[in-house]
Amino acid sequence: MAIMQEIETKLQKGISVSTDEEVYYALLELVKDKAEKKVSNKGKKKLYYISAEFLIGKLLSNNLINLGIYDEVKETLEKNGKSLAEIEEIELEPSLGNGGLGRLAACFIDSIATLGLNGDGVGLNYHYGLFKQVFENNLQKETPNPWITKESWLTKTDITYPVSFGGFTVQSRLYDIDVVGYNNRTTKLHLFDIESVDESIVGDTIDFDKDDIKKNLTLFLYPDDSDDKGRLLRVYQQYFMVSNAARLILAEAEAKGSNLHDLADYAAVQINDTHPSMVIPELIRLLQEKGILMDEAIEIVSKVCAYTNHTILAEALEKWPISFLEKAVPQLMPIIRELDNKVRAKVADESTYIIKDGLVHMAHMDIHFGYSVNGVAYLHTEILKNTELNNFYKLYPEKFNNKTNGITFRRWLMSCNPELSAYITELIGDGWKKDANELEKLGNFINDDAVLTKLVDIKNAKKTELASYLKKTQNLDVPDNSIFDIQVKRLHEYKRQQLNVLYIIRKYFEIKAGKKPSTPITCFFGAKAAPAYIIAKDIIHAILCLQQIINNDPEVSPYLKVFMVENYNVTLAEKLFPAANISEQISLASKEASGTGNMKFMLNGAITLGTSDGANVEIAELVGDENIYVFGEDSQTVIDRYERGDYCSKDYYDKDADLKKAVDFLVSDEMMKVGSKENLERLYNELLNKDWFMTFPDFEDYCKTKEKAYADYEDKKAWAKKMLVNISKAGFFSSDRTIKQYNDEIWHLEA
Ligand SMILES: *Cc1c(COP(=O)(O)O)cnc(C)c1O
Repeated sequence: MAIMQEIETKLQKGISVSTDEEVYYALLELVKDKAEKKVSNKGKKKLYYISAEFLIGKLLSNNLINLGIYDEVKETLEKNGKSLAEIEEIELEPSLGNGGLGRLAACFIDSIATLGLNGDGVGLNYHYGLFKQVFENNLQKETPNPWITKESWLTKTDITYPVSFGGFTVQSRLYDIDVVGYNNRTTKLHLFDIESVDESIVGDTIDFDKDDIKKNLTLFLYPDDSDDKGRLLRVYQQYFMVSNAARLILAEAEAKGSNLHDLADYAAVQINDTHPSMVIPELIRLLQEKGILMDEAIEIVSKVCAYTNHTILAEALEKWPISFLEKAVPQLMPIIRELDNKVRAKVADESTYIIKDGLVHMAHMDIHFGYSVNGVAYLHTEILKNTELNNFYKLYPEKFNNKTNGITFRRWLMSCNPELSAYITELIGDGWKKDANELEKLGNFINDDAVLTKLVDIKNAKKTELASYLKKTQNLDVPDNSIFDIQVKRLHEYKRQQLNVLYIIRKYFEIKAGKKPSTPITCFFGAKAAPAYIIAKDIIHAILCLQQIINNDPEVSPYLKVFMVENYNVTLAEKLFPAANISEQISLASKEASGTGNMKFMLNGAITLGTSDGANVEIAELVGDENIYVFGEDSQTVIDRYERGDYCSKDYYDKDADLKKAVDFLVSDEMMKVGSKENLERLYNELLNKDWFMTFPDFEDYCKTKEKAYADYEDKKAWAKKMLVNISKAGFFSSDRTIKQYNDEIWHLEA
């Protein structure tokens, strides 16, 4: 049947006489039908990718692309006076993730389906997701972000389990979302919920009764963990997630004929960061319930579970008080104690013990009782082996391996930049869609002026598109003839949005003093701050104040503008990456495990301005010095300074007049007029007296390198060559490559 008829059968009327909303729901049903008809891999062994976050983004366009019917649907709608872009606006973005880690999980399940592997995602069905960010009085405010509509991508299944906590039991329910691979098979994203969840306990804010677990368990992702109640709720959530996952794993293995002694032939579990770590003791517990003795159960599980480390920030390596676990999941504590005893019996190094000072170290459990430990970029894995987890590396060198992160090119090029995507295909054919390394063929056009011109034309068109989208949705007046310099990512001090802020203040003074840039500059920020992360929210406040001051200054605003977009999410990301000229990747060297935003920018022809950190190191290696702007101290210098503990930010402040002037501006009369004294003074004092993430030592080099990038931008042709090289070398960062490596080296599934 032609697509037109299929859609109209769902609508039971003509497309042209239907509303956008009706067409959206018809397409949703149509895609779900088609996804269901696709075969999935039924191989013996299956991967379970367990993650507290899956930041999947809107699904309609992506699924249409992956089903191979995007163009047909788009044209059919156009013929009937409808716009797919407008219909997409109806879809609500599921906010099931914070940032990079959750987005990575989403890219991975796309690649697992595309490669036709037998692997599913397992997580939680948070009804209000993270939170929706709104700006009021130049401050971030958090509001609930409901995304589940009556008809949605979720399909209710009959799978339900009783899950017991200390003192009470809840009933779970599994909802599935089909994950459609590109021209291939489908897999599932399994999202567990509680039957007794109660949305009505949430009002206009994200506050709710944190004690009422039976009602609140799946309402929010990472509820505010600044107090013990919020932290305890996380433990409940994590156990609920992994207990359901473990039951599903055992049930599916048994259904395929496993006697459970041979579980490792049927299942591989990837533990995405430490949030799902309790899957280890829970699987052991369930195997014991099935009559397998403790020692053997431990051995079985140790051949099934593999752990991915995502960070070296100490506060992110979860340690739960024993008292929390005793209260929420008392059934696990005897097993965790037994695991700890086993470590104590064979390992002398106390720093690797699981239970220490009344705390359970989740990562330690993963490393001792998992068969693989991987970092997410070359540099990150080296730091894990040589510094952060060195004591474990000495015990188990064979477990450690690197899997440099990747992104799905379906969403981050084909879907978000169809113009560039089509042009690449015109130049080199469409083999790159299945084998991203073919992008290298673009290198043949490095001296082709027509190609270089066209690349710039496409970039300019995407800038205009972003400007009009931001006008329409956020009423921002973005000048599209300026350099688009973009920093979008979670707000965290280690990512150093504050360094960018200090540069902007410096530029503001320069322009005031008459030194005007040849091409106007527009600095974009997009970032949510965790609700309890005070300084992060102060940085947002400073950016919003600067935005107000600079954009309204008639002397400066023709040359410099600042925009902080509200509620940065996947939908906005898809508009921002294609429009970027400069990609800000300025984390303190050693602190960003990989980054994936850096890859999305590169793939869309933005040039990186970054430190030697995370995957920036690999980007630099691939594109060469000419095609990236690297600045700042290297990771070893930083690690050594932390080791010495002798960093004093005040010394830098006293030595550098430009830096001093920029820092002082944070508490100037101009800022106080539009901002809040409390927030601005706190940020000022933090930088002056602590600056834990060492912005000041990198300030001068950052400014110098950024000026060089802006100056180079003036040579249009040379800049276009840099764009071409970046795009042509981005193939390595396809998540298809990453997943192939996970499978070849960790999971060993049959294709
Ligand atoms: C890719 C992505 C991230 C991760 O960005 P980093 O710069 O790697 O931290 C976060 N949020 C969204 C919405 C993304 O698409």
